[in-house]
Amino acid sequence: MMYDYFHRTELDETFYTEHLQPRLPREMIDAHAHFNLPEHVSHITKETIAGDWALECGLLMSYEDACAYYRTLFPDTVVYMTALPWPLREANTIGNNNYISRISEYPHLRGLMTIRPEYSLSMIEQAFTEGGFSGFKPYPYMASTVKGADVSIFDFMTHEQFALANRLRVPVLMHLPRAGRLPAPENVSEIRTILERYPNVKLVIAHFGRCFNVEYFEQALDALGEDIHRVWFDTAAVLNPAVHRLTFQELDYHKILFGTDFPILLWHGKREWKNGTYTNLCRENFSWNKHLYPEDESNYTFFVYEQIKHMLDIIGDDEEKKRAVFFGNAKEVYFDTQRGGVQA
Ligand SMILES: [Zn+2]
Repeated sequence: MMYDYFHRTELDETFYTEHLQPRLPREMIDAHAHFNLPEHVSHITKETIAGDWALECGLLMSYEDACAYYRTLFPDTVVYMTALPWPLREANTIGNNNYISRISEYPHLRGLMTIRPEYSLSMIEQAFTEGGFSGFKPYPYMASTVKGADVSIFDFMTHEQFALANRLRVPVLMHLPRAGRLPAPENVSEIRTILERYPNVKLVIAHFGRCFNVEYFEQALDALGEDIHRVWFDTAAVLNPAVHRLTFQELDYHKILFGTDFPILLWHGKREWKNGTYTNLCRENFSWNKHLYPEDESNYTFFVYEQIKHMLDIIGDDEEKKRAVFFGNAKEVYFDTQRGGVQA
């Protein structure tokens, strides 16, 4: 069941044909998308959905839905997937993890397991190994329901759980907490702690560390110094060309993984950035949509088309870089390691 607001229009097709089709690799990995079934999110309250614009856009995506979206959006590309559960406290995480485990039997999909801070080490290890997962996906919501809450990383993924990840040598896809985002001093110091104590963990930081505005990433470069090159980043939900420009200029491109954050970003629109924050400009009638520029809306293409165009513009005709960012890097992090961790 695809969202009925999802339509590929003639304008989208023209945009795709002009800007994407000639340049987009024929194989791609979406390194960040959320998969589930309705029964995994049936307890999410109206208040939770109303409190987060993203949830109103998309809260459901089965494997079959995802295939239909990718086929519609990228008809000339084979899309491989890194599948994440819905990491909300009210979600049925055990059921959602089981579903991810089931679909990760498909050869072109790898699943990440959501862990909650209260899960025991033996439970995690058993579920992870038997479930054939390829990484952990902790989430700040598991410690606090407030977006960007002032919690410690170790409040939602404990040191003991990191030690297990270190022993199993699994990647961890980390959504950072705190209003200060990537450069928040506590985040910087906790990232350093993880690098120091758990050297076998490939730490992938989602959404460029929630640096949707370029000034956060500028500060992060100063704050993290050389350590910024010891982590990976995914591009999910980042549309800002200034962020793309800076990150591609400063980081080793082998550390950048393309991701969409589907099913949240299936709408038509773009963004505006001001004073450390962003405004979604969108055609579809979500309750948060203020319709700031109604006369522009008919010209909007898919958010994700805009995102990919910005990335391709910056990468240029460097085919090796393009293949790495859109495919090879995620393959190395999530696909090339043994499922279910290191065998004893
Ligand atoms: Zn996400």
